[in-house]
Amino acid sequence: MSFKNFPMVRMVVYGRGCFAQTADILAPHRKKDKPFIFLVDDFFKDKSALTNRIPLTGDDEIIFASTVYEPKTTQVDGLANTLKEKYGEVSGVIGIGGGSMLDLAKAVALMMTNTGSSADYQGWDLVKVPGAYHVGIPTLSGTGAEVSRTTVLTGPERKLGMNSDYTPFDQIILDPDLIKNAPKNQRFYTGMDCYIHCVESLTGTYLNAFSRAYGEKANELCEEIFLHKNDWDDDSDEKLMMASYLGGMSIAYSQVGVAHALSYGLSFLLGTKHGIGNCIVFDHLAEFYPEGVRNFKAMVEKHGIDIPKGICANLSDADFEKMIDVALFLAPLWENALGKNWRDTITRKKLREMYEKM
Ligand code: ZN
Repeated sequence: MSFKNFPMVRMVVYGRGCFAQTADILAPHRKKDKPFIFLVDDFFKDKSALTNRIPLTGDDEIIFASTVYEPKTTQVDGLANTLKEKYGEVSGVIGIGGGSMLDLAKAVALMMTNTGSSADYQGWDLVKVPGAYHVGIPTLSGTGAEVSRTTVLTGPERKLGMNSDYTPFDQIILDPDLIKNAPKNQRFYTGMDCYIHCVESLTGTYLNAFSRAYGEKANELCEEIFLHKNDWDDDSDEKLMMASYLGGMSIAYSQVGVAHALSYGLSFLLGTKHGIGNCIVFDHLAEFYPEGVRNFKAMVEKHGIDIPKGICANLSDADFEKMIDVALFLAPLWENALGKNWRDTITRKKLREMYEKM
């Protein structure tokens, strides 16, 4: 048996207002005549309160990117090729936004130095050389993308991450002030991604003391802010930001499970975003995660959130087959959830029945 040997984010700054330190943090990494590129969620396009505070020098550029869909390999390649043509090299890539924007920044940074298409690197340890310096600044918390060793991309064949030792951020800037004004539904869906990471990690067969230590704390914080507290306040933002970080650390040494495997299928076929997709799936997983699903339903009720239903109602046989292919490809997730013999119970027929309920 060999144990996972994985990199962590190199530098972390945490605290309310720490975004103001961004210029000082970037300065030592500036290469002569090479700009920093800020990839910003276009949610902030008309919100000058944040965009005016982005410290631009020289040729530094803000590129607004849409997060209507999660990052695609074509989008990553397009951005990286444009930047390579324009500047040759950049000082660094800074992602400001939710998980999609953080993943986009990681992938573009990697493709600044690796040849070919990002689709060539979807998988495990396929990235050949370190990417450009990259920084993550979350404005939504829950996905754990700020600490993960992957960047999840939708490619021509599948939805799969570029998992590599070069993927984690060189620096993350965790400022709870930046997540304060997140839309309520979005905050809930993304927060539930974190809660589901905890449930899948803590009940999984890959669990060890390392991932349990992180997962239990993240789980406790999620239940405190989503289940026990009555009002959302600054303290909730601070705790959610830490829960996301800790939940991400927990799955770094364990793995996610059934909800993520099925949610990847939905996302590939229907473009369902990760947070809401996980919620749609998890709502139907009491058979696998009885306690987690019970708490989840209580959180949905408490926050008055609508979980979409019937999204698979009009799909064709071919559509179901495609979703099942994507879900079954994620063997480590199933093995974590159900053990080595998962194929005995997770048949195509079983998955079809499960998807039909959603
Ligand atoms: Zn997730």
